[in-house]
Amino acid sequence: MKHQVIVVGGGLAGLRAAVESAMLGADTAVLSLLYPVRSHSGAAQGGVNAALANMPECKDDTPAKHAYDTVKGSDFLADQDCAEILTSDAPVRIYELEHWGVPFSRTPEGRIAQRPFGGAGYPRTCYASDKTGLYILHTLNEQAVKHGIKVYNEWAVLSLARDGAMNHGLVAMNLQTGEIASFGADAVIIATGGAGRIFRRTSNAMQSTGYTLGMAYRAGVPLKDMEFVQFHPTTIIGTNILMTEGARGEGGYLVNNQGERFMSKYAPKAMELAPRDIVSRSIQIEINEGHGFPDGGGCVHLDLRHLGREKILERLPGIRDLAISFLGIDCIEKPVPIQPGQHFIMGGIDTDKDGATILPGVFAAGECASVSVHGANRLGGNSLLECVVMGQRAGAAAGNFVKAKSSAIQDAVLNDAVKKTSADVDALLKSDGKERLVTLRDTMAQTMTDNIGIFREEKPMADALATMRELRARFRDIGVDAKNRKFNLDLLRTIELGGMLDAAETIAAGALARKESRGAHSRLDFKTRDDANWMKHTLAHFTPDGARLEYESVVQTKWQPEERKY
Ligand SMILES: Cc1cc2nc3c(=O)[nH]c(=O)nc-3n(C[C@H](O)[C@H](O)[C@H](O)COP(=O)(O)OP(=O)(O)OC[C@H]3O[C@@H](n4cnc5c(N)ncnc54)[C@H](O)[C@@H]3O)c2cc1C
Repeated sequence: MKHQVIVVGGGLAGLRAAVESAMLGADTAVLSLLYPVRSHSGAAQGGVNAALANMPECKDDTPAKHAYDTVKGSDFLADQDCAEILTSDAPVRIYELEHWGVPFSRTPEGRIAQRPFGGAGYPRTCYASDKTGLYILHTLNEQAVKHGIKVYNEWAVLSLARDGAMNHGLVAMNLQTGEIASFGADAVIIATGGAGRIFRRTSNAMQSTGYTLGMAYRAGVPLKDMEFVQFHPTTIIGTNILMTEGARGEGGYLVNNQGERFMSKYAPKAMELAPRDIVSRSIQIEINEGHGFPDGGGCVHLDLRHLGREKILERLPGIRDLAISFLGIDCIEKPVPIQPGQHFIMGGIDTDKDGATILPGVFAAGECASVSVHGANRLGGNSLLECVVMGQRAGAAAGNFVKAKSSAIQDAVLNDAVKKTSADVDALLKSDGKERLVTLRDTMAQTMTDNIGIFREEKPMADALATMRELRARFRDIGVDAKNRKFNLDLLRTIELGGMLDAAETIAAGALARKESRGAHSRLDFKTRDDANWMKHTLAHFTPDGARLEYESVVQTKWQPEERKY
């Protein structure tokens, strides 16, 4: 199996990249663990940002204002040139999606409707009811079909096939048969989404493991800014299923056990629509100070009742269904108990603004990549945007890379890679090691949630780092109970855990080293932002003894760091 471009992952970023490279004439395939339309992108509810200036309140909105909001939201860690690309490409990409058939919700005049989201000066978030991601995903899938893109469904990428400086493709496992095979590719684009499952409380799908972060890291690509993990303010207690920020965008209140809209204390102007890092911290403070409700280990209420039945049914039908299904609560009649949960990873595979990594022929886009447009805190609605903007750019860069490439794919390298990876998997299947997946995975997730959560300090983070290293050592003695080849999820989850532990270690190491508070990284022992020493990106490099950290300066174009007030 050989293609000029292979995209790993069929979510928004992967499909958009594949369509672009196919449009440039490159023979392009997608290889995906899940059927593309089941990707986590399909769970995105609230919407996607672009300064279209469609609403009466946002007539003077511009991409430059969107860029400023993004940079300020990032707590001045985003590369400002990348934020400007993100926001200036945004209108083009959104109208393109509209022309391809995304059924956006409309204004009375028939324009794409926009709702307010956190940290934005204007209503800027384009939406399709509260199922925006699902509609965009299906539309992009149609485009992939139209361009004849071959899709390898239910294949898990395991490793890259590298020879010194050149990458020749990848090795993957067919879940249906257990077959391990090589795929030759002049360019590989990694677009495998988030890593939320490293944490216990997360809004992310089971597939959002972060395995490929570990894979790229071990192949020599640094992971950037991994300590910046977003906790979404409003996830349903217990399951941590998301209640979209759109609920607050449409006017929803956050209320404590005194019946107060407590955000007046923390962000008097923006109230519930302050950026996520600020709202999540505020909720956690309310809970910690005894102003929450005891359910689910501590929560506050998301109250939508005043919006009225009609608005809820029109704009937020999906989250109403979720709260009914998972809590038995109808938000038309009762407030929904919510708590913050892990939601997004700002860091990821280090790329330039065209999705290129330092390994020639290896690109990354979407949530698994760090460009960086989100810096220390992502604004709601900017992630779907990153997928379509940076997906398009990575697809174009890969398409052009393969056109210009003079060397051929080396079969010998592919054969060696498949032999080595097969031997590793065989050894895992044969091992009678005494450690078990569930124990190691639960310890990792619980430790990360407890020790590297919304509020952080030295000792718990140091403990978490030590625990990740210990789990890594114990992982060497892991045994897999199910020995079959076909659809062996015990085996798959065990392999994934290896990559997750690598990624978790870089989160812990980066967080422990960063002695300041910035965006989602909030330290009780270093409460303020320290621009003089820490306005820089963290780059974690793999070494057999653990992550080696280096730092890189932030690109500034127009904006000087300032205090964030909302
Ligand atoms: C519940 C929820 C709601 C959200 N709402 C919004 C919103 O309203 N607006 C917004 O901007 N952002 C939102 N986000 C964030 C946003 O949806 C994601 O960041 C984005 O969709 C990620 O897209 P992606 O293409 O990078 O990855 P995904 O959509 O997660 O796709 C990853 C793909 O990689 C494949 N894959 C994974 N591992 C492997 C492997 N080992 N081998 C092969 N294939 C693999 C999977 O099969 C899948 O096809 C939300 C996120 C969640 C979880």
